[in-house]
Amino acid sequence: MATTDHDYYELLGVGRGASEAEIKRAFRRLARELHPDVSDAPDAHERFREVVEAYEVLSKSETRDLYDRYGHAGLRSGGFQSGHVDFGNLADLFSAFFGDDVLFGGRAGGRARGADVAATVEIDLVEAAHGVTREVPFQAAVSCSRCEGSGAEPDSEITSCPTCGGSGRLQQITRSVFGEFVRTQTCPACSGSGRRIERPCTECRGAGRVVEERTIPVEIPPGIHHGQRIRLSGAGHAGMVRGRAGDVYVEVQILPDERFVREGDDIYATVDLTFTQAALGTTLAIPTLDGEEELELPPGTQPGEIIVLRGRGMPVLQRRSRGDQRILVNVRVPRQLSDEQRRLLREFDEQADDRTYGKSDGLFDKLKSAFR
Ligand SMILES: [Zn+2]
Ligand SMILES: [Zn+2]
Repeated sequence: MATTDHDYYELLGVGRGASEAEIKRAFRRLARELHPDVSDAPDAHERFREVVEAYEVLSKSETRDLYDRYGHAGLRSGGFQSGHVDFGNLADLFSAFFGDDVLFGGRAGGRARGADVAATVEIDLVEAAHGVTREVPFQAAVSCSRCEGSGAEPDSEITSCPTCGGSGRLQQITRSVFGEFVRTQTCPACSGSGRRIERPCTECRGAGRVVEERTIPVEIPPGIHHGQRIRLSGAGHAGMVRGRAGDVYVEVQILPDERFVREGDDIYATVDLTFTQAALGTTLAIPTLDGEEELELPPGTQPGEIIVLRGRGMPVLQRRSRGDQRILVNVRVPRQLSDEQRRLLREFDEQADDRTYGKSDGLFDKLKSAFR
């Protein structure tokens, strides 16, 4: 569902100065008129969506303010996603008017989809950089093998539920001041399964499902970020009777790496040089995401200098490119000198002049550019 470009006030048929109560009233009236279960108009579904979206925005002062000031563009930049309209508060509103099952079309309980399962996996930064496959353990309800998910003892009888006649749902026509509505609810006698079990399965006590420990190989793509979730479709809890299974969401946690700090797709590291190494130049082995590497530092390397290894940062998810590795140079100054060392440094100092040091390199500017 795309964000509508229609004016939200026009959609609800209210003026720009409408009060909260007026907006709520207008929404209720339109919702009753346009709800796809009630209306026969071919565009009812689309219009219902638009009206829900308009209400979502105008019923909350933050989003209404944004919309009043900047229109649809303001909502988009403010992070409002109409594709993920939160039905939470709307569901309350609807159930007050129509009964519980109206908003979601009264799915037959007997085919209810299984619930989703959450799992986590920990990997280190180098694994996140290269991608890794991990066996992730989790618990999921699976179809009971003794009764093959039916919930009945093998060879025992299953009849259809006498209360709902096997449909799992009860329909009720309600007359109210708003007109006549067909209200659907899950059959309380069979909890929506539509069946009556004479002898429940001894393994699952009639549930048709048992909880099982499972592990599943999860392919973690290169460049994944801390806290991102990977969805494994259909690997979650088994559904009721003929319902499809839920999904598993695996949250990836990336353990801190003492050598690197990640900032988006770039990684930061430091390198320690002695003041003689910095002055004379040196070659050092430094850690990268691809292993140790020789880094050549020219004579006169300054503290605070940033060495950029282009394309040596984290891979950018689902692209071929990579971020950079940025290395901050730290120069270590001796803390304890012998008499001889002190004499040598004094001698050095006598020979040094302004040219020896050159002009100051603006350490503060470099520091700022490191965190650009
Ligand atoms: Zn069973
Ligand atoms: Zn029933």
